[in-house]
Amino acid sequence: MLSEILKKEDCAACRFCCAFRRQSLWETPIFTLENTESIEADQKLDASVLQKFSFENNTYARYDLSNNYKTDDSEEEAPCPYLSTNGCILDANEKPWDCKIWPLRVMRKTDGALVIALTPTCPSVNKIDIEKVREFVNEKLADSLFEYAKDHSFLIKQYHEGFPILVEK
Ligand code: SF4
Ligand code: SF4
Repeated sequence: MLSEILKKEDCAACRFCCAFRRQSLWETPIFTLENTESIEADQKLDASVLQKFSFENNTYARYDLSNNYKTDDSEEEAPCPYLSTNGCILDANEKPWDCKIWPLRVMRKTDGALVIALTPTCPSVNKIDIEKVREFVNEKLADSLFEYAKDHSFLIKQYHEGFPILVEK
């Protein structure tokens, strides 16, 4: 979604957002029913890693990486099951919204306000002037992100301190 300002080659060399430390497991992507059904229909993919659950009339799914760590090192990262050496193996219908909008996050603050925040750990976006990112998000993405999030409320994360807020509703 930020492809106009993030370079593809930087992401190809990074893949940071496709592997998770224990303390980042809350960031693992959430799959909508449409994503899950597309994955189930795709013979090349293993859908058995996805655990479905319901929330407010929507069905979502998630994978659990908590048993995938091989050491006690808190910096160890467990890769997403859909990450290959060539990157993500999911197509547009299969890929979760969380991944499509990364490093943006739609979050709810404790006062109930919805915000679009920036994940502070993306090395590429951190090199860009935050005002340029804010302007881009405001102009091109904010309305559609808030709209989608309202229809899929489980995808809204709780606000985490340290995530720079780009847009507040
Ligand atoms: S963390 Fe940032 S630079 Fe790295 S792959 Fe993800 S979006 Fe690209
Ligand atoms: S689904 Fe694809 S983009 Fe999302 S974390 Fe997994 S490999 Fe990365």
